[in-house]
Amino acid sequence: MLIVMDAAATSEQVRHVVETVQALGLSAHPIPGAQRTAIGITGNRGPVEPAAFENLPGVVEVIPVSAPYKLVSREAKRENTVVSIGGVAVGGPRLAIVAGPCAVESERQAIEIGQEVARAGANLYRGGAFKPRTSPYSFQGLGAEGLKILSKVRQETGLPIVTEVLDSETVDLVAEHADCLQVGARNMQNFSLLKRLGRLRKPVLLKRGMSATIEELLLSAEYLLAEGNYEVVLCERGVRTFVDHTRNTLDLSAIPYVQRISHLPIVVDPSHGTGKREKVLPLSRAGVAVGADGLLIEVHNHPEAALSDGPQALLPEMFAELMIQVRRLAPVLGRVA
Ligand code: PEP
Ligand code: MN
Repeated sequence: MLIVMDAAATSEQVRHVVETVQALGLSAHPIPGAQRTAIGITGNRGPVEPAAFENLPGVVEVIPVSAPYKLVSREAKRENTVVSIGGVAVGGPRLAIVAGPCAVESERQAIEIGQEVARAGANLYRGGAFKPRTSPYSFQGLGAEGLKILSKVRQETGLPIVTEVLDSETVDLVAEHADCLQVGARNMQNFSLLKRLGRLRKPVLLKRGMSATIEELLLSAEYLLAEGNYEVVLCERGVRTFVDHTRNTLDLSAIPYVQRISHLPIVVDPSHGTGKREKVLPLSRAGVAVGADGLLIEVHNHPEAALSDGPQALLPEMFAELMIQVRRLAPVLGRVA
């Protein structure tokens, strides 16, 4: 259920509605919009009686929300959400280009790649300190040491940092160094982690699970918003299908679909989406063309020696070419890069 307030409703009237909702044992989520405030109601097991709110001062409309997700939906908030990651807007006219190595391997490697991607035009740096690996024998990331290196990368390049958090235990540690915490595909439905991140006041990059539907992705985002964190960026990174010419199948139709039903920004990750270096550039163009709010690109200066995801990493010069093409393409879509 959504309670839509009059554009001229006072904060006193909004508070009165919130208190009325709470008095019924339900949770109220005021969502300020450009024109008006809407108040989402959660916590109800069955339908809520609209009559309880319709006649309260300042209320224009009470809308039953049919979709299982509420706060992430455009019914709750009509305007696009713009998430600020360390001062970089994601979801506005400028494309967010998130680039860096899959894993932080050393200070030198991380900083060199950071300087390369910053020079080429990336506006956010991403590297993993905690890596979710299929095999327990694969490189697991440098952990706390990797996070310190990421702080140095920010100092050296000026780029805000996106890095993955694997579990609830390390949320505070990761948040100390990161401007945005990534939840990886394998953790998309780690609900206790999502609730914890919902209470943290830091942006979250939520990747689609490799077998998740869009409804499941949006419900995972709903966990974050329901706890009060509206700073959420979604990421399409491909789903597993029967094909074997790519690592995953990049589901680009997800972008306009999500944008129609949700106000949250969404970026495309053609690196994990294809798993193959030579396919990253064309699928990046396609991601921008389909209307994504940005790209997430893995870059390595020595991909043959990379400790994870070498085959999909772009060389810095390939990333620079990608930026040139994206900059040419962006204006066609009414965007800048
Ligand atoms: C990553 O971003 O390096 C990663 C492990 O991605 P995903 O969670 O999409 O597999
Ligand atoms: Mn990776």
